[in-house]
Amino acid sequence: MQIILVSRHMKAARTITIMPRHILLTLAVFFVLVLSTSAAFSWLSVHFRLPLVENLMLSTQQQESQKIQDYVSANLQLMATRLGELQAKVLQLDSLGERVSGLAGDKPAARPNPLAGAGGPYLPAPMTAGELQREIERLATAIDYRSDELAVLESRLLEKRVKSRLLPTTLPVKESSFGSPFGYRNDPIAGLRAMHEGIDFVAETGTPIVAAADGVVVAAELHPEFGNMIDVDHGDGLTSRYAHMSRLNVKAGTLVKRGQEIGAVGSTGRSTGAHLHFEVRMLGVAQNPAFFLKQGSGYAQLKQR
Ligand SMILES: [Zn+2]
Repeated sequence: MQIILVSRHMKAARTITIMPRHILLTLAVFFVLVLSTSAAFSWLSVHFRLPLVENLMLSTQQQESQKIQDYVSANLQLMATRLGELQAKVLQLDSLGERVSGLAGDKPAARPNPLAGAGGPYLPAPMTAGELQREIERLATAIDYRSDELAVLESRLLEKRVKSRLLPTTLPVKESSFGSPFGYRNDPIAGLRAMHEGIDFVAETGTPIVAAADGVVVAAELHPEFGNMIDVDHGDGLTSRYAHMSRLNVKAGTLVKRGQEIGAVGSTGRSTGAHLHFEVRMLGVAQNPAFFLKQGSGYAQLKQR
């Protein structure tokens, strides 16, 4: 590029030739000037702590941190309140658990209970995050203990329920009177002293016989001595036997319920008259059925002969 300068003071016109390097040089000088000015201003403001800039920065920081603090403390307070409610619920569960243990006929095992003896009015107090954390851990431990205890209690109750379902405690013949009790007696046919391994219930032929507990029929057959007989397995080595029956309602393998009719009184086998011979055996050894039947209802109303 060429620029021609013309002036009155000049005798002749002057020509200036501008090359690209001239433009570049001008731009470079301009940028250096701008940068150095702004750097100098920054250094001055920081070095001499110009009040306006510093105040502006500080107040912004303070506002931010105050906002965060308010948010955190509001949340902590909320969590502390919720924690207090949870503690009260755990205390309620504790006393409920104790009452249920009592109903199950069971003293709860003495365990270190972190909430034992706790209680009183809940007074919300400002909590730090650390305190809240410790309280939450304490509560979690208390809940663990309580759930362990409840699990033990549940299994005991279940065991109790299953046992009571499976113990032969239901009177097998309702309308009947006592015949021979369990124990030694003079055999009604041989006339000699012999062991009587069951209880005899005297009733009319055809009187219904029911299962003394839930179980599985393991034998329903004609026996030379017991006549038509049924053996019911109640589990845990416990069986009950019903003998001299006139009729069998169930077959081997049938699941029977407590109180379910399984046949009728008769005088089949080695018998002198219509009666039910009822046995309870534990691992094959004859037990006195009266011990079991006394735990059920109906035994006391049975007619004595
Ligand atoms: Zn008998």
